[in-house]
Amino acid sequence: MKFEDLGLSPETLKAVTEKGYETPTPIQQKAIPIIMMARDVVGLAQTGTGKTAGFTLPMIDALSGGRARMRMPRSLVLEPTRELAAQVAENFKTYGKYHKLTMALLVGGESMGDQTKLLDKGVDVLIATPGRLLDLFSRGAILLNDIRILVIDEADRMLDMGFIPDIEKIVSLIPPTRQTLLFSATMPPEIKRLTEKFLSNPKEVSVDAPASTAVTVEQFLVHTSTRDKKRVLGRLMKQEAPKNAFIFLNRKRDIGDVAGFLQKQGYAAAPLHGDMVQAKRTETLQGFRDGTISFLVCSDVAARGLDISNVSHVFNYDVPMSADDYVHRIGRTGRAGKSGRAWMIATKEDEKFLANIERLIKKPIPVFEMETSKDTSEPVQKDHAPKERAERRHDRPKRDEPRSASHQDGKRAGHAPARSKDEDGHDGPGFGDDLPAFMR
Ligand code: AMP
Repeated sequence: MKFEDLGLSPETLKAVTEKGYETPTPIQQKAIPIIMMARDVVGLAQTGTGKTAGFTLPMIDALSGGRARMRMPRSLVLEPTRELAAQVAENFKTYGKYHKLTMALLVGGESMGDQTKLLDKGVDVLIATPGRLLDLFSRGAILLNDIRILVIDEADRMLDMGFIPDIEKIVSLIPPTRQTLLFSATMPPEIKRLTEKFLSNPKEVSVDAPASTAVTVEQFLVHTSTRDKKRVLGRLMKQEAPKNAFIFLNRKRDIGDVAGFLQKQGYAAAPLHGDMVQAKRTETLQGFRDGTISFLVCSDVAARGLDISNVSHVFNYDVPMSADDYVHRIGRTGRAGKSGRAWMIATKEDEKFLANIERLIKKPIPVFEMETSKDTSEPVQKDHAPKERAERRHDRPKRDEPRSASHQDGKRAGHAPARSKDEDGHDGPGFGDDLPAFMR
């Protein structure tokens, strides 16, 4: 299928051609024709599939006819984080360059005055994080009566971050005669309920389940003790000599420490997490894109969905508590057909989470043997070729044991917001204005 077959306008096609895309991705092939028919859509797709263009392209054409009134945006895209919102805004700019659509980005950490001024002029596309949107709504700076198209993006991440009450509030303020598009990597019961409540006869489209980790990513696992984790990381950095990397931690409080450790070793490392002020977050990300920063030591929320290609490595300094997060984390590398390497450092306490991850990705992660010498605590490489760890791990939980956090069947055990956020304190809704209403 070609882009020309999707029914998009010549202006939009021109922008797509200039961007260099040759064929629509599977989610675009499936979703765009349905969105063009003004139908509601539930899209099961994660970032990296081209889903953003999947909804922005048809939206641009659908909105090209009318004109927005003061403070009454004509469409709304809800995103869980500022970074994702900014990325979607970039998409609208790129693909909408031959249309005269106006756009505003409403995210925490930016001046409210500037955002209100834009709204006053009237915007066709409003891209927002839930907290800031409700803030401005309660101040009377915005009316949602004219919204014709609503996009709820990364719905499962919204759930993880505790944004669902905010989303319900926002949707209840929008007239029911709208088109609603909901995208999610997984379909836990709470999101299913949301689709049943807010979407009208939606068409479901799905591409690659999140369990399918990119074939371009080689995965490895190192067992160690909590005490030796930093040393193992240092050792892996030397051994792998990565061009650049995301280094994921579960707890924000450890991020500065690990970033400092790497800096001391001479690496151009920087922390990235939700408690940093927005200007610093933006500056750090830009540094990473430019290559002045090579190693981002980060939390899941801060790095979620970031579309940065050419990342050679991902290190899971901590085993993520949610198997889904593992897939999202390692998906930061091996993008756009490039190869990538993903390492995970695990301790004995991580057995349960590791088992969940392997159940989700449907294969064991090859183990790389490193040993810590008793005298020096210096890790020693025992063998070079990663081996199937099933051979040597005797104490792991049996595969048929009850799961605690697996998403294999799209269900989360327990209720959000759980998982890493429990320990992470308030990563996610922890950045000022983006706090969900019930936590403010
Ligand atoms: P997304 O899943 O929306 O985050 O997109 C992932 C990446 O795929 C982005 O870098 C897009 O620019 C890129 N992309 C989107 N659509 C296409 C396409 N049809 N062909 C090639 N790359 C694309």
